[in-house]
Amino acid sequence: MDNDEIRVQEKRNMAILIFWMFLIVWCVSLHYFAIVGIISKSEPTNVNSPNGSDGIHSVADVVNPSESLFYTHIFRVTAYCPCAKCCGKFADNVTASGYIIYDGDRFIAAPPEYDFGTVMLIPGYNESKPVPVRDRGGVIKADKLDVYFDTHQEALNWGVQYLEVKILEVEL
Ligand SMILES: [Zn+2]
Repeated sequence: MDNDEIRVQEKRNMAILIFWMFLIVWCVSLHYFAIVGIISKSEPTNVNSPNGSDGIHSVADVVNPSESLFYTHIFRVTAYCPCAKCCGKFADNVTASGYIIYDGDRFIAAPPEYDFGTVMLIPGYNESKPVPVRDRGGVIKADKLDVYFDTHQEALNWGVQYLEVKILEVEL
């Protein structure tokens, strides 16, 4: 073999080597993304996005209340709206969790022992469909909850009710 032949042989070997490296990297990344895809799909939907940018506004769409994942607790349930009478200096359409309120929204202000995103089912509120905890309140402590309405009149109509509330045991 002369020098030219050796050079051509080397080039061919290099090309084969690069080809195999690409193939291996491609295979590995394909498996990696496939596995990551499976894992991320199996994770539950997060409804506690700060501004609801995930597009899920109704927890009722993802939770079936007939499932026995709820425990019950009696709360004193009052109501509020975004007005200054109800929220004072916090009347800014943003909840304590950073969630931006939209028209017709339904959620709960709960004591700090209930994390944001905790799902509750309050009889008579949101057609008794599950709603998330998205807010806090100065007087919302211990066994008290505050349910959100768009208007002050709706909040007044709710009044004060002692209710058996269902709380989802798992967090979304
Ligand atoms: Zn109000």
